[in-house]
Amino acid sequence: MKDVFSYKDNELFAEQVALTDIANQFGTPCYVYSCTKIENNWLEFDEALNEIPHRICYAVKANSNLSILQLLAKLNSGFDIVSQGELERVLRAGGDSQKVVFSGVGKPAEEIKRALDVGIYCFNVESESELERINQVAKQQNKIAPVALRINPNIDARTHPYIATGLNQNKFGIELALVLPLCRQIKNMSNLNLIGIGCHIGSQITEIEPFQEALDCLLELIEQLSAENISLKHVDIGGGLGIRYRDENPPSIHDYVFALRNKLKERKFDIILEPGRVIVADAGILLTRVEYLKHSNHKNFAIVDAGMNDLVRPSLYNAWQDIIPIYKNDFSKQTYDIVGPVCESSDFLGKNRELAIQPGDLLAICTAGAYGFSMSSSYNSRPRPAEVLVDKDKMILIRKRETIQELYMHEEGIPKWI
Ligand SMILES: *Cc1c(COP(=O)(O)O)cnc(C)c1O
Repeated sequence: MKDVFSYKDNELFAEQVALTDIANQFGTPCYVYSCTKIENNWLEFDEALNEIPHRICYAVKANSNLSILQLLAKLNSGFDIVSQGELERVLRAGGDSQKVVFSGVGKPAEEIKRALDVGIYCFNVESESELERINQVAKQQNKIAPVALRINPNIDARTHPYIATGLNQNKFGIELALVLPLCRQIKNMSNLNLIGIGCHIGSQITEIEPFQEALDCLLELIEQLSAENISLKHVDIGGGLGIRYRDENPPSIHDYVFALRNKLKERKFDIILEPGRVIVADAGILLTRVEYLKHSNHKNFAIVDAGMNDLVRPSLYNAWQDIIPIYKNDFSKQTYDIVGPVCESSDFLGKNRELAIQPGDLLAICTAGAYGFSMSSSYNSRPRPAEVLVDKDKMILIRKRETIQELYMHEEGIPKWI
């Protein structure tokens, strides 16, 4: 597919909409997403999997905007959630509760209750004490809770340590040695029904081997379980497939699915996948405007109107995202650190970038559709940015820019202390 963000006569477009028009209409900073790209990414997964029974449960935390969830719900997507907030978003967007898997190490009792009430597909359980809690909550409600165990297969996903989740030292999943005993125990827990097993070994994984190792590990467990007459409905390989931000060479969706599919043919259970980043990352950019250029003897800074509160990946993981101009100027380039207005030296979006820019120019921070807005905050009392969805020649405001008043509305009407 032709890139959905591309230049026409030196000006950058999202599908058929000029990004300048979006900036003029909705202001900056502003997230812009391509409807076509999100749909195509999801469909690519679905089509690659067509020969085996499968469910794609989009990881909501990557980008949880209601309109994007709605788009995916229309494609019949399932959802991987990590909180009640995400569950309510999925329901509000018209998602099917029967296609929801609930992950996360710290599910509160009320959130478990709500998930049972609306009838989710299953809980991905991460500890023995969580099993006990789910059993207890289900008993109080006279329900049988469908559960799957999330295994920690102790596999090095070779990604940034903050987003590696499948090693013994990580808080996630159940240690391999404890899995079989726990499965036997579930048989004796009155209000639980064990229906699956899964793992999620990390994010932004750019090699295929860790996924294969993880799947082998799960398949081995399934054999052991079936030898004990415990049969499961599904195996869940999690998310984590990486994308190209700079020069990474991740497997394509097709190659990734193909490598897994070969191990799954002729099996009697479904496969669940929980992709997040790979569905939305390259479908989004963050549009920002240059406020000031600041030159010193040591460095050139381009101070822009987006900061680490809007897009935290560069500060948090030292992540590299391409930064390109909306208009290609023909004057000579200089090397800049692209920084935001937030009062932290970690507030940068990119370092040592060659750009021909002047104050007032618009820039696009590329591949910002995943873990962009969803990780944003209002630090420094900065209202969070607007979000715009582009569909061919249409632009739709899918989240209004936060207002100043909204920043402190929960603090008003409080009795005076002094
Ligand atoms: C974050 C997460 C995902 C999605 O990961 P991506 O790298 O965005 O594909 C899937 N499953 C679980 C349990 C997660 O925590």
